[in-house]
Amino acid sequence: MLQAEVRVDLDAIRHNVARLRAGTSAELMAVVKGDGYGHGMLPVARAALDSGASWLGVCTLDEALTLRRAGITAPVLAWLLVPGLPLHEGVAAGVDLGTGSLLQLREMVEAAHLAGRPARVHLKIDTGLARGGATPADWPALVEAAAKAEADGSVEVVGVFSHFVYADAPGHETIDQQLDVFHEGLATAERLGVTPRLRHIANSAATLTRPDAHLDLVRPGIAVYGLTPLSRSDTDRLSPGERFGLRPAMTARARVMLTKRVPAGQGVSYGHTYHTERETTLAVVPLGYADGVPRHASSSGPIELGGKVRRIAGRVCMDQVVLDCGDDPVAAGDVATLFGTGEHGGPTADDWAEAVGTINYEIVTRFGSTRVPRVYT
Ligand code: PLP
Repeated sequence: MLQAEVRVDLDAIRHNVARLRAGTSAELMAVVKGDGYGHGMLPVARAALDSGASWLGVCTLDEALTLRRAGITAPVLAWLLVPGLPLHEGVAAGVDLGTGSLLQLREMVEAAHLAGRPARVHLKIDTGLARGGATPADWPALVEAAAKAEADGSVEVVGVFSHFVYADAPGHETIDQQLDVFHEGLATAERLGVTPRLRHIANSAATLTRPDAHLDLVRPGIAVYGLTPLSRSDTDRLSPGERFGLRPAMTARARVMLTKRVPAGQGVSYGHTYHTERETTLAVVPLGYADGVPRHASSSGPIELGGKVRRIAGRVCMDQVVLDCGDDPVAAGDVATLFGTGEHGGPTADDWAEAVGTINYEIVTRFGSTRVPRVYT
């Protein structure tokens, strides 16, 4: 490492996918949107396909076409499609398209005519999230239109899907309610002549804890990266990832730029929101909010340096943070770890999420897409 790096352990990705796949008889769609949750969409996609995933899930048409342009031929589903996109390019590239509205379906039919082949679609029912997908009231009309389009050869209904309101509370009562609505939606589809091969609703939490929701295909995202949306239980000293045998894939590290001795009472970083209690050594770590460190981590973000976890002293700057190291023998060039596997008590993405009041998803995603080089091991 020269200055700073985000290390991505593709073996961990392979391990996690194999682990998730071993826990289900359903097919597995690795969700690789958001540049693979910051880990790099293409390397993660390849590692996932190597180790048991048979599908890839993304949001945008552009993400799906990027996978195709990279030579990935596995089934890909894209589900966040605004009006006016060149959907025919997706159809021509054999990308599956998620639709939750008549307007989207109409555009898919037009795209099929342009591409000269049926559009492969997954009909999305909104079982309660109130985001994408047709409401239960609008569902029959969407299914009828899809049945008609299937009959005239312009679409093939490959799947019916939905998404849970709670990614982090597998015992939540809405899970059962949503499953009931989903099964009613499937029954309606069947009555109207649509029988999809793939019924899918399970995110990571449901993949790990609700086998009854696995159906034909599970769609884990965060668990592929070795993290889970589940919280640490009070009685269990293991992290949720360890509980399920998952390995965090991302480590963010940097070399200390310089250290210096300062007196007691020294204000540190912009606005002097932190003052040293006594004479101490400060260490400057060259990562800031331009690199993914949330500014909210001012005075709270944990960083391991010299075998100890320390909190950022004062404000997070665009390019650097400062640590108050007391009399510890830290030196320029030493490696500071923001988060990683958590081995030897080092901080994890979960610790960062807790420190800044967010979720581990946001931590890894924001560290992935910056000027910090991503290194694959
Ligand atoms: N399916 C859909 C439709 C999603 O939007 C997402 C992510 O938000 C996932 C699956 C994966 O969710 P998770 O990362 O919680 O497993």
